[in-house]
Amino acid sequence: MHLLNADLHCHSTFSDGSLPPEELARRAHANGVQLWALTDHDEIAGQAPARAAAEALGLVYVTGVEISVTFIGETVHILGFDFDLENPALVQGLAALRAGRDQRARDMGESLARAGIPGAYEGACAYAGNPDLVSRTHFARFLVESGHCASVHEVFSRYLKEGKPGFVPHRWAGLGQALDWIHGAGGVAAIAHPARYRFTPTEELALFTEFASHSGQGVEVTCGAHFPDEVTRYATMAAEFGLLASRGSDFHAPEESRIALGELPDLPGKCTPLWSLWADRLQHLPPAEHTGAHAALPA
Ligand code: AMP
Ligand code: MN
Ligand code: MN
Ligand code: MN
Repeated sequence: MHLLNADLHCHSTFSDGSLPPEELARRAHANGVQLWALTDHDEIAGQAPARAAAEALGLVYVTGVEISVTFIGETVHILGFDFDLENPALVQGLAALRAGRDQRARDMGESLARAGIPGAYEGACAYAGNPDLVSRTHFARFLVESGHCASVHEVFSRYLKEGKPGFVPHRWAGLGQALDWIHGAGGVAAIAHPARYRFTPTEELALFTEFASHSGQGVEVTCGAHFPDEVTRYATMAAEFGLLASRGSDFHAPEESRIALGELPDLPGKCTPLWSLWADRLQHLPPAEHTGAHAALPA
């Protein structure tokens, strides 16, 4: 089961990725991915084209989403998998989350204008493939292209992180609410990239405890945003909390992402993979062939 090449985290033009679902499917397939999920931020409009493209290439596809959550004042991302795309509470909940994004983006534009960067709202919108889903990533691309910063990374450090001039606080879904949407639609939830939150150990414990108390089942252990020591740490946390481990590149764009689709190390051996839940759908797959699945993460 471990030698399966599963990539359960990436973004398309329906959120802040730069490629459409069909092109992501093509790249996933070319890189040896066998089990794939597209997980756009707060949006499932890309699911049907992603599934169609994946299945045409022989990939096993599970539906996915990455829900923005506010937990004790910090933004946390919760991945949802294998849910019913038509579930009304989920569909309406995600629509409500997206609805708050336009005003936030306008406020970010004004905030950046005060910091000496005019036209950023319009600039970001021009990069957004989905007018409902303007994200900080689109602002970052605009600031790079317009010469204000050399890289997306620099934009976040100088302008878009909390405390910086373009940052606008926003209230996303509650943790219990997001888990209710996913579970109510028959899906399974996983904490995305846990190492990337600025929690104290006590706060992190609270996140895992509350997530598990709401029947959350998974955590991303091997992902594009985790360094090797973090992979080890969250493999241990997964075992302690009885969580299943997920693996995902969080691929956004060829020029921006450190890791290509499927090109991640394998899950640590002590993990129980999230996809053990879907074993019946995976039995026909051969062991992963692509060597990238076993390569070490770059430092
Ligand atoms: P938003 O949902 O609009 O707040 O945008 C969040 C997105 O910004 C994340 O999903 C990442 O794609 C991107 N992001 C956040 N922090 C950084 C960072 N430090 N460097 C590059 N991209 C980032
Ligand atoms: Mn993103
Ligand atoms: Mn995320
Ligand atoms: Mn993501």
